[in-house]
Amino acid sequence: MNFKINTKSFLFSILLVPLFSISKEEKNGNHNRIKANLATNNFIEKDSVIIKNGYQLTVRNSDPKLSNEFKNNIAERFFDAYPKMLEHFNPKATKSVIIIFSDADTDHPAHAINNEITVFTKFFTKPVRDKDIDVIVHEGFHLIQAYPESKNTPGWLVEGIADYVREIYGLSNAESGWVLPGTLDDKGNKYQASYRTTARFLLWVDKNFKRGIVEILDDKCRTGTYTSEIWKKETNKTIDELWDDYVKNYNKFPNN
Ligand SMILES: [Zn+2]
Repeated sequence: MNFKINTKSFLFSILLVPLFSISKEEKNGNHNRIKANLATNNFIEKDSVIIKNGYQLTVRNSDPKLSNEFKNNIAERFFDAYPKMLEHFNPKATKSVIIIFSDADTDHPAHAINNEITVFTKFFTKPVRDKDIDVIVHEGFHLIQAYPESKNTPGWLVEGIADYVREIYGLSNAESGWVLPGTLDDKGNKYQASYRTTARFLLWVDKNFKRGIVEILDDKCRTGTYTSEIWKKETNKTIDELWDDYVKNYNKFPNN
């Protein structure tokens, strides 16, 4: 959900965190290193370092009340979605990720910063919400975005792209009640509404005007070169013209 990035510490963490993580965990004697089949083992009972296909996931668990099933599902989903997203959008993104399950009392369910994702467990213990495994797709994509701080990059686009990616790479969105809006809301929200509203708009533009528009926008954000003129260049319409068209043709999807 929340997205924060610090360029200097991001670079620092790419270089140093993998080694640091391993040595710290080994020193504490408090980890399980597992290369086994994730699908068939309940393994995340305490802090763990999992290495698979060149990716390293460090899991830190500070909420003993959280079910092993939820933690295992999150780890499995990470190893399913994160490598695919990284290869497709940003092969230079970090391959060493830390997930912290925290019982802290916060107003938001999760956030991502540098190479670290924190999941606030009080949001994920209720029925249905405990199926919200694809939260890790959204948050994982923030690490792949790795956008530098730039006044050119709008926050609504950062979150809109992360939810667009969640729609594409998520495996159990509907099961957890997470769906893109089925109708236009009447609150006057536009593409700047962020999250799912923006994601649905991005999906529509991709299908109707410019295949790959999200990849282009993502790349521009990563180089700090996003401007609103990109929409006109890529689709021959301004973003406001696209939105007006979207309102009229909301349910128009080719081959759909
Ligand atoms: Zn987010």
